[in-house]
Amino acid sequence: MSTEKIEIPKEILPKDGRFGCGPSLIRPSQLETIFTCGLMGTSHRQAPIKNLVASIKDRLAQLYHLPQGYEVVLGNGGASLFWASATACLIEKRAAHAVFGAFSKKFATETSRAPFLEESLIFTSDPGSAPEIAATEGIDFYAWAHQETSTGVINNQKPDFLQAQDALIAVDATSIAGAKTIDLNGIDVYYFSAQKALASDGGIWFALLSPRALERCEKLRNAPNRWVPDILSLPLAVENSRSNQTVNTPALATLIMLNEQLGYLLEQGGLSGAQAHCQTGSDLIYQWACAQPWATPFVNDPALRSHLVATIELEGVEAKKVLEILRTHHVVDLGGYRGIGKNQLRIGVFPNTEIANVQALLETLDYVIGILLG
Ligand SMILES: *Cc1c(COP(=O)(O)O)cnc(C)c1O
Repeated sequence: MSTEKIEIPKEILPKDGRFGCGPSLIRPSQLETIFTCGLMGTSHRQAPIKNLVASIKDRLAQLYHLPQGYEVVLGNGGASLFWASATACLIEKRAAHAVFGAFSKKFATETSRAPFLEESLIFTSDPGSAPEIAATEGIDFYAWAHQETSTGVINNQKPDFLQAQDALIAVDATSIAGAKTIDLNGIDVYYFSAQKALASDGGIWFALLSPRALERCEKLRNAPNRWVPDILSLPLAVENSRSNQTVNTPALATLIMLNEQLGYLLEQGGLSGAQAHCQTGSDLIYQWACAQPWATPFVNDPALRSHLVATIELEGVEAKKVLEILRTHHVVDLGGYRGIGKNQLRIGVFPNTEIANVQALLETLDYVIGILLG
């Protein structure tokens, strides 16, 4: 049957078809706030926007129960820029990375290429699992992702075993920040963008920095043989953040939507509330996949399965075809990550995703795949 001919009945389609892992579903009230707040088109160096940045910092500190001495630092460019900034400003001699998918690999590649650092030490495992990092002589910076968004693996590795060492622990929380509780004690750098579980837009990064991380970046400020452009300078970002500003102009709409979403998350029970909500949605998906002969969760170990990014391997039916049919019905962005797995769906269940919408999506998938299988 040609794919254009498949018409999914309206009654079973999700009311909102946005299941992407980022940019992710934004609630209408976040968009309304952009219109009503009167801040668009005003200077980021004046009090109203500085107050907005202060509110975001304060709400993040509340959500994360920010330990004493930690600071919320922000800058433009998203998590990818933060990788470059951390490479230039936080690593003294050599970094170690857990590499278990596309995003964790990108950061490892960045530090490995830096001419002023030794080649990075890589702990790796197959996509769909997560490697353990081992304390190693000569390493002053350990990095892993709390969630590898490309595979849907959650990595709850605890840094306790590294604490005796004089090394920084940096955790990429880009797609999990806002939807998973974590004790930041022992973690020096917890960084993320705003367009994933935080449901704002791309182009900005946040880093929750420990006193040790702040000290390290001050110490490396004038490191010899290390030219750092201002836009990558973490000490400069720290200074600007302290006065509720950024080095260069931020996207105001991103900040407005983020502030609204943080308020919403705090009202809904904070990180644990968001975590429970997303767990309910993703449990439905995993149970569904386990019950279908043509679907299996890509991540074998249930303990490693993300509660936000459910990656499902299909068999006997082409994921590409399913995705095309869904897209013509405005159900979008649930494709696998480039180069990961063979034939998969990757479904984002974020704090803004309604559980009824997840149920509708599963019904929709049953309907479409049923027809394709004849
Ligand atoms: C999306 C993502 C990134 C990249 O974020 P950008 O804001 O696009 O730079 C980095 N790490 C993880 C884990 C991600 O999910």
